[in-house]
Amino acid sequence: MSLLEVSNLEAFYGASQALFGVNLQIAEGQLVALMGRNGMGKTTTVRSITRMLRTTKGAIRFDGKDLTVLPSFRAARLGIGLAPEGRRCFANLSVSENLMASARSGPWDIEKATELFPRLGERMTQSASTLSGGEQQMLAIARALLTNPRLLILDEATEGLAPVVRQEIWAAIAKLKQGGQSILVIDKGFSELRAVADRCVILARGETVWTGTPASLTSDVETEFLGV
Ligand code: ATP
Repeated sequence: MSLLEVSNLEAFYGASQALFGVNLQIAEGQLVALMGRNGMGKTTTVRSITRMLRTTKGAIRFDGKDLTVLPSFRAARLGIGLAPEGRRCFANLSVSENLMASARSGPWDIEKATELFPRLGERMTQSASTLSGGEQQMLAIARALLTNPRLLILDEATEGLAPVVRQEIWAAIAKLKQGGQSILVIDKGFSELRAVADRCVILARGETVWTGTPASLTSDVETEFLGV
């Protein structure tokens, strides 16, 4: 059984339909890359899975449970941890306060998070608003990890970050995967995504148009759906 199974997902912003049939599955321990050009529905898919957007049709099952009937805090409690697009840390709280605010019991604690991101360990008392973009992204990922999620979702994992910081984030993602963490990741760095993913799911105009392994993602597919 898949950890996450999304079938024929449709989603609506008021009268406007944004998703028309998204299908994706994540098995336990897998890293799945959700890909597509701008505006194709990746963030809307994440918002639907996490139930921040509840006006959806179709099935979303997590560990066999129907997520569509749950509010977002219940979906989070089932074990979905999100580092959202734009990071959304609490700007006027310190790094440690941000981390403590999301902590739930399990193997991930502040010490383990700062082993993954040593830079955060050096900035525990600093206000989140004074962190660099890369540090804020590390904090957003660490916060999601401290919820001890069964599935970690990273929306725009490295967006707007300097190349050297991006490499740090990708290295951390690779470590998490090695540790058996199930991960859904969105990013514009297609080559980095392909290097780390077990499977790729491509969206176009709000629906899944291609699913397969990174090795089977040919240049024709890239040209047609990713504009590479
Ligand atoms: P990007 O890579 O640019 O973040 P995306 O693939 O994540 O894009 P979405 O943000 O999910 O795409 O957008 C999918 C569609 O839904 C787009 O047509 C977008 O304009 C629309 N949309 C997104 N958010 C809203 C909203 N709050 N209200 C109305 N329409 C929206």
